[in-house]
Amino acid sequence: MKIIAIGRNYAAHARELGNQVPGEPLIFMKPSTAVIDSGRPFIYPPFSGDVHYELEVIVEISRRGKNISRKNYLEYFDRISLGIDFTARDLQKKCKEKGRPWEIAKAFDGSAAIGQWIDQSSFDFQNLHFELLKNGKPVQKGHTAAMIFPLDDLMEYISKFFTLEPGDIIFTGTPEGVGPVTPGDHLRGLLEGKNILNCEIKGP
Ligand code: ZN
Repeated sequence: MKIIAIGRNYAAHARELGNQVPGEPLIFMKPSTAVIDSGRPFIYPPFSGDVHYELEVIVEISRRGKNISRKNYLEYFDRISLGIDFTARDLQKKCKEKGRPWEIAKAFDGSAAIGQWIDQSSFDFQNLHFELLKNGKPVQKGHTAAMIFPLDDLMEYISKFFTLEPGDIIFTGTPEGVGPVTPGDHLRGLLEGKNILNCEIKGP
């Protein structure tokens, strides 16, 4: 499986990192070794001193798709959840300055926490509220209606370049409020008020 993730898909978050709002989706990938299964801890990596959380709504692809038309996008996933796109912000900053790809900052082992999967048919994907609590305190609040590129556009765009296969996961971007984690922190993700993601930060 692969993870396809979207950068800068919420205008306020693009601005908080000093980035332009993109004219077309910004895509990067994470390999299967990035996945942290539901409830497992994040192990703080020794190569970074500034790992950030980014809470995102995620979907799991259920059907092979290439050149998906946006009007059929609902046929390609059955389950949704929340994920955390852990980002080594210090490494990402260096990569950006040097014009290099982001993989070491975004796709390292254990950089993608996954919550419990929920049947998507019980929700309207374009109208989901989600929230991240760090040590019980709200730090990020998002609403999928605020995406710059909604999921139907994203699936059409992504599948032009990459065949989507069952088990692949799309991370749909993070709203504003990203920030650092330190060992001992506990992250909780809420989707429509329901706690479906839990992740403890542990030291190396
Ligand atoms: Zn992200």
